[in-house]
Amino acid sequence: MPFNRRDALALAAGSVAVAAVGHKAQAQAAASPFTLPPLGYALDALAPTIDAETMMLHHDKHHAGYLKALNEAVASTPSTAGDTLEALMQKAAALPPAFRKNAGQHYAHSFFWKAMAPAGQRGAPSDALMAAVTRDFGGLDAMKSAFEKAGATQFGSGWAWLILGADGKLAVTSTGNADTPLMGDAAVKGQPLLVNDVWEHAYYLTYRNRRAEYLSKWWDVVSWNRLNALHGEAVARKA
Ligand code: MN
Repeated sequence: MPFNRRDALALAAGSVAVAAVGHKAQAQAAASPFTLPPLGYALDALAPTIDAETMMLHHDKHHAGYLKALNEAVASTPSTAGDTLEALMQKAAALPPAFRKNAGQHYAHSFFWKAMAPAGQRGAPSDALMAAVTRDFGGLDAMKSAFEKAGATQFGSGWAWLILGADGKLAVTSTGNADTPLMGDAAVKGQPLLVNDVWEHAYYLTYRNRRAEYLSKWWDVVSWNRLNALHGEAVARKA
């Protein structure tokens, strides 16, 4: 990539910041802007729906690998210094392919861990969420069916999403591989409210090839509290 004025300014600002604090740790932090979020619960907190070994491999190996590759991509592309994850997804089509893959995977996995919760912390759909689900799908079971179908029919690897669209309506969609509804060139765009991972690494140890069974049982570990909160925030932003 050509070295432009913005790169020069970013480098200069970085040099000043590093010189000012004079610690190697600060330079490391600047070079690796994204970090692996903790699960927030024990590896076996979602068992038997999702087994502990799957959670360990998925979070500590798969997600960590995408994160490392994302930070390497940022480090080797100075024009992206300081960009948020959302900004990187928005302009993914104009960046090297490593950004689409790894910004998307880092975003989706970080979202996915929070979409689930241990027993006793999951809650139930709020009245506001139920009203919106009933309005846009006809009922909760219909929403769940649409979500499971989106996940089951996503060919190959990808994600199933519940989103709030620009029209203010809830919708279900799926994306392939590392794509998300926040990418600038997404076929269906919207604010993600819920996501399930339908890559085989998410379910294969327990469910083998039975993706539909995984999708069906996954509702047992969904954090309705989190979904209620995200829905409320997304609706408020549109009001
Ligand atoms: Mn995954």
